[in-house]
Amino acid sequence: LPERQPKPKWLRVKLPTGKKYTELRGLVDKYKLNTICTSGSCPNMGECWGEGTATFMILGNICTRSCGFCGVKTGRPETVDWDEPEKVARSIKLMKIKHAVLTSVDRDDLKDMGSIMWAETVKAVRRMNPETTMETLIPDFQGIEQHIDRIVDVAPEVVSHNIETVRRLTREVRIQAQYDRSMGVLKYLKQAGQRRTKSGIMLGLGETREEVIETLHDLKANDVDVVTIGQYLQPSKKHLPVKQFINPDQFKEYEEIGLSLGFRHVESSALVRSSYRAQKHIN
Ligand code: SF4
Ligand code: SF4
Repeated sequence: LPERQPKPKWLRVKLPTGKKYTELRGLVDKYKLNTICTSGSCPNMGECWGEGTATFMILGNICTRSCGFCGVKTGRPETVDWDEPEKVARSIKLMKIKHAVLTSVDRDDLKDMGSIMWAETVKAVRRMNPETTMETLIPDFQGIEQHIDRIVDVAPEVVSHNIETVRRLTREVRIQAQYDRSMGVLKYLKQAGQRRTKSGIMLGLGETREEVIETLHDLKANDVDVVTIGQYLQPSKKHLPVKQFINPDQFKEYEEIGLSLGFRHVESSALVRSSYRAQKHIN
């Protein structure tokens, strides 16, 4: 695509509005709460926050990996902050969040890869917010079962791990990750007793229709319940370019294919992010 080509009209979004949004925005600014919704300027804030859903990142904001699509900084991460579980739990309480999505940077530098902090955070959120349901959007933990078990053991309603792209593009897009290893994580979650699992794909990185369909088949074969499909947008000029803006009809077709494969929920449209309408995915 030539530089500065205007985005197609279906990608232009209105600024978030609504009473609930304004109220939460005030709290987030006042207490400097750390949500991905605000730091990533997500287009869905009006809708998600209006429904009482928000996404929080744990384990700092510097990642040991360097995926080509991701706006998070890469480098040597900070030391772990053991007050983080309490801080997240308090933010969720202040914001009166009904369904919290938790996610983290990858911590390949830590022996437990952050899995203990993950479990402590889920427990702290539940202690302080017994009514709040949770989705944990986890890293691959290099496929190590012991770390994945720590998540399943604290029983979040949904555990998600994003496959992000098709097999052929994984090395270029996710660099340190592997397609089969991520599929293995999803498969293992179910074997370990996780009730609901979920994964997401971004489109527009040069994948073909056949490859997307193959990925949907693979996710189904690994027992995934919910799939999100959205348009990749380049966070900065240093990131992978957008190869294609996917047409709304194409998103619709993937949704229909996904549903015919038997997924419980398929969210497929340009502005879908993996935590969009997340509350629905508990059931
Ligand atoms: Fe926040 Fe995710 Fe909703 Fe965006 S889609 S507003 S990041 S919960
Ligand atoms: Fe971003 Fe996650 Fe990749 Fe780290 S592992 S660069 S946070 S997508």
